[in-house]
Amino acid sequence: MAYNITLIPGDGTGPEIIAATKRVIEATGVPINWEVQDAGIDVMEKYGTPLPESVLDSIRRNKVALKGPITTPIGTGFRSVNVALRKELNLYACLRPCKYYPGIRSKYTDVDLVVVRENTEDLYAGVEWPAGSEECEKIIELSGNKIRPGSAISIKPISKEASKRIVKFAFEYAVNNNRKKVTAVAKANIMKYTDGLFYESAREVAKDYEGKIEYQEVLVDNMCMQLVQKPELYDVLVLPNLYGDILSDLCAGLVGGLGVAPGANIGEDAAVFEATHGSAPKYKGQNKVNPMAVILSGMLMLRYIGEKSAADRLENAVAKVIAEGKYVTYDMKPNRDDPTAVGTAEVADAIIREMEEG
Ligand code: NAD
Repeated sequence: MAYNITLIPGDGTGPEIIAATKRVIEATGVPINWEVQDAGIDVMEKYGTPLPESVLDSIRRNKVALKGPITTPIGTGFRSVNVALRKELNLYACLRPCKYYPGIRSKYTDVDLVVVRENTEDLYAGVEWPAGSEECEKIIELSGNKIRPGSAISIKPISKEASKRIVKFAFEYAVNNNRKKVTAVAKANIMKYTDGLFYESAREVAKDYEGKIEYQEVLVDNMCMQLVQKPELYDVLVLPNLYGDILSDLCAGLVGGLGVAPGANIGEDAAVFEATHGSAPKYKGQNKVNPMAVILSGMLMLRYIGEKSAADRLENAVAKVIAEGKYVTYDMKPNRDDPTAVGTAEVADAIIREMEEG
């Protein structure tokens, strides 16, 4: 029976990348009914919003979506569609595998990390007030004058419930994907109550996996240094929202950058698969940008729905195209002006050929 999956082309370079990805996924032979849903700046005029309710309804119904990047309109009063989707669907876990494929230009060749980032709280909760506001004055007073007068203030909420939920997600991912170690990353020596609660929650969850998955804690500053010195020592990393955001970019940088960094936002009832990169609007309509990050996000999606062998075939084909280095976009060539760089659609063609031949 075919899977029903919501397909959001997005805007900017999104539609061309998604068209390439759709062809590649269809070439795996997995039967999918795509329910195409428009969102982003191109539909604002038609619907009066960049995120029509029908998009959310479609994802709620199908439970799985593949999404192209969407521009966050500046100065229109609309919040980020990407953040809104995560909130509305309670996609509490951000999953970002960062794996080195031979052929990618990077200083590192032995990296196979998975970053699991909490998506719903921490300094990202948006609880903040401007300098001089009544709320700031009250909090400054409450702090016993530990806060300098006239400061702006952001609040960092960390709950036991959300911390346990994300750490459990990381351990379950480790179990299901043959991983050996989960490292919890925070700064509990300084933020004793918030990051302290994150570690305390993580330890509680880790007990359930004793003897199966190794558990370790590393402070976030030390983790940054460790990752640039010996990333091969780490496996699955689990972090609160802000550290997760920063470290997932660091890890993407270790393995070749945005063009090959896939991702997923996953909750209890739905999952949205998308690349780490944005809509790169300056390249819109030029058949130029790299589709591999979205294609690899599609590979994660196939794994998520249980189509493991199709996912393996797709990943192997991507790896072969990267290793050969011939049918790759400008960003993967040694020189960005390399005239032999191919376009978005030609990368998809090459991956499909590899799957057919392999
Ligand atoms: P971006 O990732 O769109 O582009 C930054 C630069 O990275 C580009 O100019 C390009 O040189 C390169 N790049 C990005 N994707 C590439 C690809 N697939 N292949 C080759 N090169 C690539 O970041 P930005 O310019 O900061 O953001 C543009 C818009 O995208 C903003 O409105 C932002 O809010 C939005 N955005 C959306 C998402 C999402 O949909 N999840 C994520 C990040 C940013």
